[in-house]
Amino acid sequence: MEKQTLALHTQPQHADVYGALNMPVYHSAAYGFQSAEDMNDAFTGRSSNPSYSRVTNPTVTFFEDRVKQMSGAKNVYAFNSGMAAIANTIVALTASGRNIVTSKHLFGNTVSLFTNTMGRFGVETRYVDLLDPEQVDAAIDDNTSLIYFEIVTNPQLEVADISILSEIARRHNIPLVADTTVIPFSFFDASGLGIDIEVISSTKYISGGATSLGGVVIDYGRFPSLYRSIKFELLYNLGAYMTPHAAYMQTIGLETLSARYTVHAANALELAKRLQKVPEIKRVNYIGLPDNPFYDLARKQFGETSGAMITIDLDSKQACFNFINHLNLISRATNMFDSKTLAIHPASTIFGAFAGSQRRAMDVRDTTIRLSVGLESVNDLFEDILQALH
Ligand SMILES: *Cc1c(COP(=O)(O)O)cnc(C)c1O
Repeated sequence: MEKQTLALHTQPQHADVYGALNMPVYHSAAYGFQSAEDMNDAFTGRSSNPSYSRVTNPTVTFFEDRVKQMSGAKNVYAFNSGMAAIANTIVALTASGRNIVTSKHLFGNTVSLFTNTMGRFGVETRYVDLLDPEQVDAAIDDNTSLIYFEIVTNPQLEVADISILSEIARRHNIPLVADTTVIPFSFFDASGLGIDIEVISSTKYISGGATSLGGVVIDYGRFPSLYRSIKFELLYNLGAYMTPHAAYMQTIGLETLSARYTVHAANALELAKRLQKVPEIKRVNYIGLPDNPFYDLARKQFGETSGAMITIDLDSKQACFNFINHLNLISRATNMFDSKTLAIHPASTIFGAFAGSQRRAMDVRDTTIRLSVGLESVNDLFEDILQALH
C-alpha cells in the first residue's frame, strides 16, 4: 500500500471490541495480566503487551506503528516533545568522554542541550561547517559518537549534501542523525539518502494544526544499540514517553499530513515569489525559489516540495518590529507549520539569550523575520504583509 493509504488504514495490534474506527485514547497508567508468566514476558520484552504507560501504551503504540509503516523503518519511538526525542536519542548514542560533530547552525534548544546539558555530563560538541566535508572529516576522531544535523537549518535555510555526510559517517562507522522536522518524513526518502536516524518535532506538521507537543524518532535499524537503550533503559529512566492524548491527536494528524503539507508548500512558494517583488523586502530566502543557492540540492534530496519556512530581511531591526506589530492576520508566534501563518523575529526571541557575537557566528541577523506559511489564501497573506510594511 502507498503511504497515504497507510496513513489512514494502519491496523491495530488488537481489534477494537466496538469496532471503533479511530484508535481510542487509553488513559490508563497500568494494565492487568492473566498470569505471572504473561507479566514476566511483558517486562522482559518477550511480548509487546502494555504494562505501564511510562513505557508502553496502546494509543501511543498505534501512533508509532503508523509512522513505522509509512516510513518503512525498523523502529519508531514517540516522545512527549521534539526536544525529548532529540535528547533521548543523544543520551542513547553517546557517553562521557565522547563527542558529537554537528553544524554551527542548529535549533537554539538543541545547541543548549549539546553545549550545556550534555556538556555537564562530559560530552563535547564540535560545531563545524557542514558544507565543508573536510572540516567534518577532520573533526571526527575515535571518540566521536555521531554526526548530527538539520536538513534545512533555521533560520538560515542552509541545506547540507546528505550523501556526503552519509559517506563520512559510514567510513567512520558512526550514525548520521538528522532533525527532519521541516520536511515531512513521508515526502522524502531519508534512509535512501543515507540518514540512519531521523528525529522529528511532531509538534509541527504531524500534530495537525499545532494541537499538541510530540517527538518522533525514526530508527532505520542500522545501529541496533539505539533500540535497546531507548526501549529498555531511557523510556523507563527518563520518563519522556508520549502521552496517549497527544498520540491520539497526532495519529489523526498523520491522516491529513499529505493534504495539508501540499497546500503549505504550494502557498509558501507562491508567497515567496510575490514577496520577491516587494521593494521594502531586501531579501526573500526560500529553498523552493529557483534562484536560491540550495534549490538544486533541495530538489534532489527532498523532491518537488520545499517546505513552508520562509525568511525575509528588512532594513533594520526596528523595521522588523514595526512590521510584526502591524500584522493583522498573521499571528505573532513561535512554532512552525501550524495551519495558521506565523511570524517571528528570531534574533530577539528564539536566539534572544545568545550574545550578539554568538548570533553573528550563527548567521542569525537582526534584520530577519521568519514566516511559517499556513493554509490561508495566499491573497490574504500577501495583503496582510503589504499593509504591515506600509
Ligand atoms: C520545534 C523544533 C524542535 C523542538 O521541538 P519541540 O516539539 O518544540 O520540543 C526541534 N527541532 C526543530 C527543527 C524544531 O523546529
